Amino acid sequence: MSIRENLDHIRSTLPEHVTLVAVSKTHPAEAILEAYNAEQRVFGENKVQELVSKYEQLPKDIEWHLIGHLQSNKVKFVAQFVSLIHSVDSLSLLKEINKQAGKSKRVINCLLQLHIAEEETKFGLSYEECEALLVSEELSLMRNIKITGMMGMATNTDNKDQIKKEFRSLRIFFEKLKVGSTFNFQLSTLSMGMSSDYRIAIEEGSTMIRVGSTIFGNREYKDTSFSTH
Ligand SMILES: *Cc1c(COP(=O)(O)O)cnc(C)c1O
Repeated sequence: MSIRENLDHIRSTLPEHVTLVAVSKTHPAEAILEAYNAEQRVFGENKVQELVSKYEQLPKDIEWHLIGHLQSNKVKFVAQFVSLIHSVDSLSLLKEINKQAGKSKRVINCLLQLHIAEEETKFGLSYEECEALLVSEELSLMRNIKITGMMGMATNTDNKDQIKKEFRSLRIFFEKLKVGSTFNFQLSTLSMGMSSDYRIAIEEGSTMIRVGSTIFGNREYKDTSFSTH
């Protein structure tokens, strides 16, 4: 199956209110161009350096999303062009995004990443931390960010009931907070679901899915741990 066929297949099953983010991490610019030529415009990357290099090489009407963990000291490299950051998981990171967005005279849309999975290793805020962040005075002073939604990753398991339960709990939290909007907080996007679980995520209310391997095939990680140079 070609990239275009994979995209067409996914699109044919998507409800209209769901945005498809094509996760192109580890795949070369040519693969992204192939998807671009099949009308895909929204792409997600998880590493800053790779995102910047692809942004520089590829058409400027691409909407780039950062979906992976972001370190504060790297925000400055993406602040001029990133259209959505899915992975905001601390007030200090948000402050830095606000600062760098200000320097670029932009307002950067951000999603708060919630930790909903069982695994310890995944990043994200707890529901309590998220609520504390949202009522903080510091947030109320940030003019160059806008929190437009939430992101969550379910546990990597074959247990569909568990995945369902995790997505559902995030949906309920999202709906609860959605009512209280301010000038820089207005929830409309719920980013949930990847190749293995996006169908369940959509059933549970996702409005944005992040799909990589189902579009581009398996990722080829360059294994640096055995590198001799
Ligand atoms: C890699 C990645 C995806 C896509 O994963 P696939 O299983 O290839 O669809 C989605 N979200 C995040 C945060 C990722 O890092």
